[in-house]
Amino acid sequence: MDLILLGAPGAGKGTQGALLSEKLGTPKIATGDMLRDAVRAGTELGRQAKGYMDAGELVPDAVILGMVRERLAQPDAANGAIFDGYPRNAAQAASLDEMLAGIGRRIDAVVYLEVDDDDIVRRMGGRRTDPETGLVYHVEHNPPPAEIAPRCVIRPDDVEETVRNRLDVYRRSTAPLVEHYRQAGVPVHTVDGGRPIEAVQGEILGLLER
Ligand code: AMP
Repeated sequence: MDLILLGAPGAGKGTQGALLSEKLGTPKIATGDMLRDAVRAGTELGRQAKGYMDAGELVPDAVILGMVRERLAQPDAANGAIFDGYPRNAAQAASLDEMLAGIGRRIDAVVYLEVDDDDIVRRMGGRRTDPETGLVYHVEHNPPPAEIAPRCVIRPDDVEETVRNRLDVYRRSTAPLVEHYRQAGVPVHTVDGGRPIEAVQGEILGLLER
């Protein structure tokens, strides 16, 4: 199954994607995680991407396309993938549709996680990342285990000003993809992402089983 998790930054795509990936045995392809890995590793790709990421802007489509193409060719993605944070605009959606068609696949479903803007800004303020594993926690809703907490950090692009820009970019470029997939006849499941993690996960699994 090829599945897209759509939603604003901070809507819970990463958290839900990780749980779904475990449940369904399908890898999560999260372009944001891949870019952060590249930045940490100091690769040429990471060097190119960092400025855009720190400003909350989208990294150029060509960079993302090459990265996803390579990742999709890995054996673990042979039967499907859960896309998190990708596609982010109409051009990326078109190239993903084409890439999947080339291997006899298509997007089977879109899960659209809806969360209020105010909630998002609040969530992002409490978000902490473990730099060693890339796992994301929240000081209130999903605190890191005591032994991990001391090394957790705030992502540089989670500061409020950058979050606001990321929300603008999301509204302008990414939110219209809901309509793109609806028009393409792909089932789009809208889920209230403002609820506890387990409730959201339960609903998504129920929807996908139908
Ligand atoms: P995320 O972790 O998905 O919120 O992504 C963090 C940042 O990485 C974004 O604000 C963008 O700068 C960049 N990024 C991640 N995925 C994409 C994508 N599909 N297209 C363009 N830029 C991306």
